[in-house]
Amino acid sequence: MQDDLSRTDLGKGGRTPTIGAIEAGGTKFVCGIGYADGTIVDRISFPTGAPETTLRRAADYFADRNVQAIGVGSFGPIDLRPGSETYGFVTTTPKPGWSGFDFLGALRRRFDVPYGWDTDVNAAAYGEAIWGAAAGLDDCVYYTIGTGVGIGVYAGGRLLHGLLHPEGGHMPVRRHPGDGFAGRCPYHGDCLEGMASGPAIEDRWGVKAHELAPDHPAWEIEAHYLAQSVATAILLLSPRKVILGGGVMQQKHLLPLIRSGVAKLLNGYVAAPELGAGLDDYIVEPGLGTESGLKGALALGVRALESAKKQAAEAGIR
Ligand code: ADP
Ligand code: ZN
Repeated sequence: MQDDLSRTDLGKGGRTPTIGAIEAGGTKFVCGIGYADGTIVDRISFPTGAPETTLRRAADYFADRNVQAIGVGSFGPIDLRPGSETYGFVTTTPKPGWSGFDFLGALRRRFDVPYGWDTDVNAAAYGEAIWGAAAGLDDCVYYTIGTGVGIGVYAGGRLLHGLLHPEGGHMPVRRHPGDGFAGRCPYHGDCLEGMASGPAIEDRWGVKAHELAPDHPAWEIEAHYLAQSVATAILLLSPRKVILGGGVMQQKHLLPLIRSGVAKLLNGYVAAPELGAGLDDYIVEPGLGTESGLKGALALGVRALESAKKQAAEAGIR
């Protein structure tokens, strides 16, 4: 059930059947229904509570809506390994009650349909690759810079999983010389998320991030960390588009600071026009606005349905 369908199959999907989508965040769940052309026709959102209650609420939303498949982009870490006994589970999260929770199992007990399942950031990267800023491209990275920092990777037309799945939000970063903040990651202290998440900005400066003026030194420090990570992603993954989303990126002055930080760090070494004159069109905001995650989950659902149909057709031939 991997990425064996091309984007074009998805793009041609039309307006039926109805597909369910869940953007499962650590602070809120968004559930929606939509079509294979990327249209979301209805949605609800509610705070993430205890796992059983939260999944019951999500399943109640889909009841009587005749969904043909459901796609889920979830906070994690989660188990994505096909054949694993705990496939579909949330694994080692510090979030109370969620560690070891059988997320997909809770849905399967209610709806016997094909499921798409990936991390929240991989789902968002996928949404952007199908219908957003990276439409038509086989390689992109998607960042969320919000309550946490996460990086979704779409490479060679596939969402990257590997050993578990990438956890780019926790990459080590070089400290800004003027930054005495210890960092707030419970595992690493001063990793990228520990230094650059919204709550890290707020702990460092003692005010809400949106209250900091555009010329406040906070933003240069923020860009310092994000630019390092983006430069690392470019060097390691060679994406064709870098998409930066999440609440912190609502600060529109941050994007140009990150672009110039990346250019400075790479110093002309990666010789591509995208990293020169084309930089403004290379490191970009999400094409789907705040819907990358939900639409990505929808795309995962569409893909799951298409794979199930293909498998059924192949079984019929045999
Ligand atoms: P989540 O990561 O929980 O899914 P968001 O991406 O909206 O949700 O991130 C929320 C965090 O982003 C907040 O805790 C806050 O620190 C930061 N944030 C939200 N809106 C803004 C804003 N307009 N400007 C700066 N920071 C913001
Ligand atoms: Zn960390």
